[in-house]
Amino acid sequence: MKLYNSLTRTKDDFYTHTPGRVEMYTCGPTVYHFAHIGNLRSYIMEDVLEKYLGYIGYDVNRVMNITDVGHLTSDGDSGDDKMLKGAKRENKTVMEIAKFYTDAFFTDCCKLNIKKPNTVVPATTYIGEFIKVIKSLVDKDYAYLAGGNVYFDTSKLEKYHVFNDFDEEDLAVGVREGVEADGNKKNKSDFVLWFTKSKFDSQELKWDSPWGIGYPGWHIECSCISMKNNGEYLDLHCGGIDNAFPHHTNEIAQSEAYLGHEWCPQWFHVRHLNTDGGKMSKSKGEFLTVSLLEQKGYDPIVYRFFCLQSHYRKSLVFSYENLDNANAAYQKLIAKIVPLLSASGDVNEARFGELKANFTEAMDNDLNTSLAITALYDVLKSDADSQTKLALVKDFDKVLSLNLIENAQKAAAPKEIELPDEITALLAERREARKAKNFALADEIRDKIVAMGYSVEETRQGTVVKPIK
Ligand code: AMP
Ligand code: ZN
Repeated sequence: MKLYNSLTRTKDDFYTHTPGRVEMYTCGPTVYHFAHIGNLRSYIMEDVLEKYLGYIGYDVNRVMNITDVGHLTSDGDSGDDKMLKGAKRENKTVMEIAKFYTDAFFTDCCKLNIKKPNTVVPATTYIGEFIKVIKSLVDKDYAYLAGGNVYFDTSKLEKYHVFNDFDEEDLAVGVREGVEADGNKKNKSDFVLWFTKSKFDSQELKWDSPWGIGYPGWHIECSCISMKNNGEYLDLHCGGIDNAFPHHTNEIAQSEAYLGHEWCPQWFHVRHLNTDGGKMSKSKGEFLTVSLLEQKGYDPIVYRFFCLQSHYRKSLVFSYENLDNANAAYQKLIAKIVPLLSASGDVNEARFGELKANFTEAMDNDLNTSLAITALYDVLKSDADSQTKLALVKDFDKVLSLNLIENAQKAAAPKEIELPDEITALLAERREARKAKNFALADEIRDKIVAMGYSVEETRQGTVVKPIK
């Protein structure tokens, strides 16, 4: 399989340190609010990647953090902790907010068929681990104390900006517009590993440390949670493209300084989902969540389908018109699967292999889900027999997770007939009459219903009322 690697900026052959085993890490959500569907685009594409790696035979160990401390309103070192912002907004404690939005995140994931990673670690449960690593970085002279905070010294590295060719000056945190320069930093790109009470007094959660009472920076959590649960050699690190700098750049800096060797050779970044108006936001415009899509009558799986129709390295524009188009295409796809459901008999293995090869070829080429869906259409259009087609749909859906069979079964099931309110009211009256053993009245009501053009039949499942054709 070839996968685009943000480190080398090329599509590389997929590599693992241990043959057959993938150590995979995903940056988890900051649980101060619901995830927007942009965040979830990243998790959907990472889920497809994990499932595809499993499909082609790898044993995948996937680890994810939950950011419940330290992610400031700017991705650098300024502003309030986002968690505190969420707690203030809802008049709750930070831990109440964290619990509520962590649960909400996994509920959304479940609706989108995003598998829960093998290990999920809330940052607040790993404080001892962060302190251990920061202490070692201070001892090795990669970190220094200034103004009460512990900073990572980026000048100690041969190369700090690993992901982009931009001007280092432009990227340095502290020089971007609207971000106040932190006078404690020796170099503009240095970043905080540990904040103490000397800064952000309103911080709710604080812990004791060798540098005073305080709390960890955001970047250190992912390095430590990964090193502890994936081991010293990570194979694949994932996140949305905005995480590449400064978050992932800083993760690499501190992990490699701590370990003394290369940490992770492959970086997978998902481009953003934007709206017509630009960047997706939790505070501006309509706050696009899975629940909102459901309220508007969309099956969340249609949103997953919408994401899979595009390549993860292209930014994607969300609009209801685009989602409606995806919905129409999805329903057509399901309708094509319905006639296959009753297929039985032997699968034509040779044909199965041929048609499956189109799917794996697409996925092996930098996870091209859009071409993989074309491969699915090609199966349905092909002259293969129904049982082979059905087996292929089931097989591809192990990776795509689009509920193809379940939704085809639902589409094939007889629809419940909606009865007019008047008939429903008469049926309720008839039930009461029968309960009161007033059978004459019950029969009278039945005759009324029949006269209105409906048949009334008593079955073991209860009374069945149908329009008389
Ligand atoms: P956060 O909850 O802000 O820590 O972000 C969770 C994940 O969503 C990270 O991997 C981000 O890079 C990713 N992300 C944020 N905004 C978007 C977006 N508009 N489209 C796709 N992924 C995003
Ligand atoms: Zn991270």
